[in-house]
Amino acid sequence: MPARPEPRPGVMKIDAYVPGKSAAAGVAKVHKLSSNETPLGPSPKAVEAVRNLSHLELYPDGSATKLREAIAARYGLDPSRIVCGAGSDELLALITHAYMGPGDEGIFTEHGFLVYRIAILTAGGTPVVAEEKDYRTDVDSILAKVTERTKIVYLANPNNPTGTYMPFDEVKRLHAGLPPHVVLVLDAAYAEYVRRNDYEAGLELVATAENVVMTRTFSKIYGLASLRIGWMVAPAPIVDAVNRIRGPFNMNGPAMAAGIAAVQDEAHVAKAVEHNEQWLAWLTREIEALGLKVTPSVANFLMITFPDEPGRTAKDADAFLSGRGLILRRIDGYGLPHALRLTVGTEEANRLVVEALRDFLKGGRDA
Ligand SMILES: *Cc1c(COP(=O)(O)O)cnc(C)c1O
Repeated sequence: MPARPEPRPGVMKIDAYVPGKSAAAGVAKVHKLSSNETPLGPSPKAVEAVRNLSHLELYPDGSATKLREAIAARYGLDPSRIVCGAGSDELLALITHAYMGPGDEGIFTEHGFLVYRIAILTAGGTPVVAEEKDYRTDVDSILAKVTERTKIVYLANPNNPTGTYMPFDEVKRLHAGLPPHVVLVLDAAYAEYVRRNDYEAGLELVATAENVVMTRTFSKIYGLASLRIGWMVAPAPIVDAVNRIRGPFNMNGPAMAAGIAAVQDEAHVAKAVEHNEQWLAWLTREIEALGLKVTPSVANFLMITFPDEPGRTAKDADAFLSGRGLILRRIDGYGLPHALRLTVGTEEANRLVVEALRDFLKGGRDA
């Protein structure tokens, strides 16, 4: 018998998720470009909805009926196929707990979102990593990893932190190649940002297949990360399984009120898309013109690769930019120590980043 309580096997293999930094020492004005939050903030109508709340002493609606109805109306879905959660992180964990246990395997890609690994290990499962090709998801490498122990394949599309995406044809090919007992999780956290004809988040696949789940979030384009709102849409048996294991009041009242207002404010989302389209292209162009490699992104962030030369590495750049109050994301944890992830910010922040990178590459000292 152990002399003190011991966590289940797998728990100590987890490297706790390290969120993007939000402060820089000794700098007056900080631009947080490390967590893919929107520079436009939430819809003013969402803020208003939270302000107008009363009766915080009452439990919220445990089945999030009105929020599910608002989401369903916006996306043309059946509300009974939706489950809401405290961020899509919670839903990813719940799906994993419902379908995976010790001895089971979950597959995600080489530079895929780290929350998948944490969810798998938490459930006692075994993480299996599929290689990418040129920072892109490779369907064949995922299919090659499938065994009879595979329970879930997780796909962030677009992927964080690379910003690359998989055309819908490829998603369908992946699905067609999976055995029917495997759950395919399509994590479409950045779907609203994508402007590509061959991209689809995959609602059609969720509607027609028995083993496909999509997760979505209010943390990114809707600008409500602080309130923790996510949702998933899935076939009825998967909805049923997740509803059995989720906390009975996993969605709080302010989150639901804000979510309803936000999803109805399509003009605000359109503004965010337009801002992103303009500045994603601008940042890509300007940073490439400095001689740095930018991985083509369809989301609201960019992966910038730095040279492996003393004084010019990603780590050096991060220190230099932090000194100017520009907080980017180190992505060593994703196996990408030579790169930084930059969230598209306000015009001011975007211009400051390019200026700072220019000075950094010149070997310029901070002003
Ligand atoms: C940000 C992000 C999420 C959203 O997480 P929430 O828990 O909803 O805030 C999910 N998946 C990916 C790939 C993300 O980058």
